[in-house]
Amino acid sequence: MSSRLVLMVLALLCCTNMALAQETPGPGRRPTTVMPAVLTVPAEAQPSAHFNAEAATDAYLAQIPADATARSNAYFEGGYWLVLWDFLVGAIALLVVLELGWSAAMRNFAERITRFKPLQTLIYWTEFSVVTFLLGFPLAVYEGFLRERKYGLATQTFGPWMNDQIKALLVGIVLGGILVMVLFGVVRRLPNTWWIWGAIVTIVFMAFAVFIAPPYIFPLFNKITLLEDPKITQPILSLARANGISADKVYQIDASRQTTRMSANVSGFGKTMRITLNDNLLRRGSPEEIQSIMGHEMGHYVLHHIYKDFVFFFIVIVAGFALLRWSLDWCLSRWGERWQIHGISDTAVLPAVFLLASIFFFVLTPILNTHVRTAEAEADMYGLNASRQPDGFAQGAIHLGEYRKMSPGRFEEWVFFDHPSGRNRIYAAMRWKAENLKLFEPLPAR
Ligand SMILES: [Zn+2]
Repeated sequence: MSSRLVLMVLALLCCTNMALAQETPGPGRRPTTVMPAVLTVPAEAQPSAHFNAEAATDAYLAQIPADATARSNAYFEGGYWLVLWDFLVGAIALLVVLELGWSAAMRNFAERITRFKPLQTLIYWTEFSVVTFLLGFPLAVYEGFLRERKYGLATQTFGPWMNDQIKALLVGIVLGGILVMVLFGVVRRLPNTWWIWGAIVTIVFMAFAVFIAPPYIFPLFNKITLLEDPKITQPILSLARANGISADKVYQIDASRQTTRMSANVSGFGKTMRITLNDNLLRRGSPEEIQSIMGHEMGHYVLHHIYKDFVFFFIVIVAGFALLRWSLDWCLSRWGERWQIHGISDTAVLPAVFLLASIFFFVLTPILNTHVRTAEAEADMYGLNASRQPDGFAQGAIHLGEYRKMSPGRFEEWVFFDHPSGRNRIYAAMRWKAENLKLFEPLPAR
């Protein structure tokens, strides 16, 4: 018990120091060069008889100041390394929990408190969540707070940021707690087929979490309100009607509480499905840009991406559980005694489960990114056809370029990008414009 306390104090001291050190050079330093906020169509992208998609793409990219490109490249490429560090730090933390006998100690503690198995699982889960939160805390502070501030993307001071972290931890304890109680119940009752039933329980639970997130979870972190301004909502709602979406509401979220990033999303499913714009987009985006992004979001909606995601993740999760069944047996036969784990229905096995799952998802990184990126490219195409705003869309890609690399190599894009790169998005928009130039008539005199 005392070692955990020491750890907690150390982690808190450590993060306070780092936070103070960061204050000196200037918190939330604004970028020195601001990218264009109002839609400005470069000469090469104006409709003309010699319109060329490549030249138009280059002209859009040339709007981004060189220092802004250098900064967003550095930020985004740093993210590649974080994929590795997150994996390694997470794996080491889980090994520490196993090797030092903490997992067995946490299980023993839960067993001393109650004889009721599901409650033992919940107590263990709470201990495990807090311990792994603390072990991962220094990296989380760097990744989620210090680094975001260094690049001028964060708007929070340490206090509110920490408050959000604690809330996220509590949400994880409650939601994750429900899932692990059910999963261990399945493992105890179905010792041979638990892996297939476990996969089914997990996907049903995922659907439940996606369903309740818009009304119950997102409001814990942000204020979500109905967008009232008819100047913005009317074009969006007529775009929705033109695409067979029966929405009569558009939501806005005060993302500026945490970040300067512009974004919009489709969340929830069934009755809770909705389109939300963030206030950074509303404040800085041109009307053409907002319409093009709404067209993209409607693409996700009309193309049933949420349901397709469930199918995709169901396959991933079944494969994951099948591998888990095999690899967990192997691990326990080798190290089970040393880690004092009594079998797969013993809650003390959880760190080993998370370790194997983190290896699985780390290896799958390019596959998962490619799945998401493919859907994003589909939504891009849908959005261009629906909104007919290729220049607004190019502008949006430039704005997103504040935190994404615009022109990666092909392999780099395949492995690390969960959206098409900015260059590819602008090129797709300009190619669309080239092939639909008649919409932008009258063409200037030849
Ligand atoms: Zn999207």
